[in-house]
Amino acid sequence: MKLYNSLTRSRDEFKTHTPGRVEMYTCGPTVYHYAHIGNLRTYIMEDVLEKYLKWTGYTVNRVMNITDVGHLTSDGDTGDDKMLKGAKREHKTVMEIAKFYTDAFFADCEKLHIRKPDTVVPATGCIGEFIKVISSLIEKGYAYEAGGNIYFDTSKLEKYYIFNDFDEEDLAVGVREGVEADGNKRSKTDFVLWFTKSKFEDQELKWESPWGLGYPGWHIECSCISMKNNGEYLDLHCGGIDNAFPHHTNEVAQSEAYLGHPWCGFWFHVHHLNTDSGKMSKSKGEFLTVSLLEQKGYDPLAYRFFCLQSHYRKGLMFSWENLDNAAAAYSKLVAKIAQLENSGSIDEAEYSRLRGAFAAAMDNDLNTSLAITALYDVLKSGLSGAGKLKLIADFDEVLSLGLINAAEKLKASKSGGEDIPPEVAELLEQRKAARKEKNFVLADELRDKIAALGYAVEETREGTKLRKL
Ligand code: AMP
Ligand code: ZN
Repeated sequence: MKLYNSLTRSRDEFKTHTPGRVEMYTCGPTVYHYAHIGNLRTYIMEDVLEKYLKWTGYTVNRVMNITDVGHLTSDGDTGDDKMLKGAKREHKTVMEIAKFYTDAFFADCEKLHIRKPDTVVPATGCIGEFIKVISSLIEKGYAYEAGGNIYFDTSKLEKYYIFNDFDEEDLAVGVREGVEADGNKRSKTDFVLWFTKSKFEDQELKWESPWGLGYPGWHIECSCISMKNNGEYLDLHCGGIDNAFPHHTNEVAQSEAYLGHPWCGFWFHVHHLNTDSGKMSKSKGEFLTVSLLEQKGYDPLAYRFFCLQSHYRKGLMFSWENLDNAAAAYSKLVAKIAQLENSGSIDEAEYSRLRGAFAAAMDNDLNTSLAITALYDVLKSGLSGAGKLKLIADFDEVLSLGLINAAEKLKASKSGGEDIPPEVAELLEQRKAARKEKNFVLADELRDKIAALGYAVEETREGTKLRKL
């Protein structure tokens, strides 16, 4: 499989340290708010990658952290603490906020058919490990104490900017715009490993350490959680592209300084989901969630389909119109599958040819949109209904679009002649009229009323349809 590797900036043949086994790490969510559908784009693409690696025969050990402490709103070492901000906003403790949004994150993942990683570790569950690694970095001369905090000394590295896509000049200026310079740092690129002094005197979660009562920096958690659960050779590290710098750059700095050898061979970065006002972001406050999509009548899997239709290394523009198109295409695909009869013998040669086309698309830097084309080609092919259904189920082990299940449900609802309650039918007619008059506010209100009665309104190419919630 060829996969773009941010480390080499080229499409490399995917290799692992131990043949047949992938040690995979994923940066998990910062749990101070709901995940937005941009975050979830990243997790969807990582999920497809994991499932494809398994599909080709690898065993995958996947580890993920949950950032429940000390992630600052700026990427530097200053700015507000995101967890504290969330707790203040909702008048809860930091741990209550973390629990609530961790559960919400996994509930969203389930709706999008994103598999939960084998090991999930909250940062607060790994403090002893952070202290062990930081102590060793100090001993080895890679870290220093200043003003009560422990900093990583980037001047000790031969190469700090390992993902060369950045303009070093720009980055060196206070690391990021709007970040106040921290006078304790010897060099601007140095970063905090452990805080005992910060502007957050009201920090709720603090632990004893050799350097005093304090809490860890953000970057150290991923290095430690991975080294502990993936071992000292990591094959594949994933995250959104915004994490490449400084987060992943700092992870590499401290992990390799600690281990004394190269750490991770492959870096997989997913590009952003954007809206017309730029990157979707939690800290901007206004963002789209899976629940909102559901309230508006979209099947979360239609959003997954929307993501898979484009390449992970291109920014994806979100608009309701784009989502409507994807939702319509998804329903049409399900309807086609629902028409297949599970009968006939399977032409093995044709079956392998079509399967090979799917694999070739995925081997080509995870080209999911071509893989979906390969799926449509199955429908158009001369295979029997049984052959088509078997192959679609096989592809869907990777794509996880719930295709066979959705097709079965569609068939059942048709044969069962499910009766739509008259009040729902009436509201649907009113909504159609509102949309015709381009009164979208009223149309949205009516959609919500229909949802309250247990039905989702879906726009499909064949027109507006109802789905029982
Ligand atoms: P966070 O919860 O902010 O730590 O982010 C969780 C994951 O979502 C990280 O891998 C981020 O890089 C990624 N991410 C953040 N914003 C976006 C976006 N607009 N589109 C895609 N991925 C994103
Ligand atoms: Zn991370």
